[in-house]
Amino acid sequence: MARQWTCNEHECKTEIRADSMEELIEQVNAHMAEVHDSYELEEMIEDASVEVAGDA
Ligand SMILES: [Zn+2]
Repeated sequence: MARQWTCNEHECKTEIRADSMEELIEQVNAHMAEVHDSYELEEMIEDASVEVAGDA
């Protein structure tokens, strides 16, 4: 089961999907660093992400 996270920074709404939580956290923080010059805590990513059907 893939996991999906949606960026809630102002009007960003970027959706990131990964096959595991570890990968998701990596990709979310790559996005946060690159686009928002920021980072997200693992717990926050876990809380904000949802399981989605299919592959990432
Ligand atoms: Zn974003």
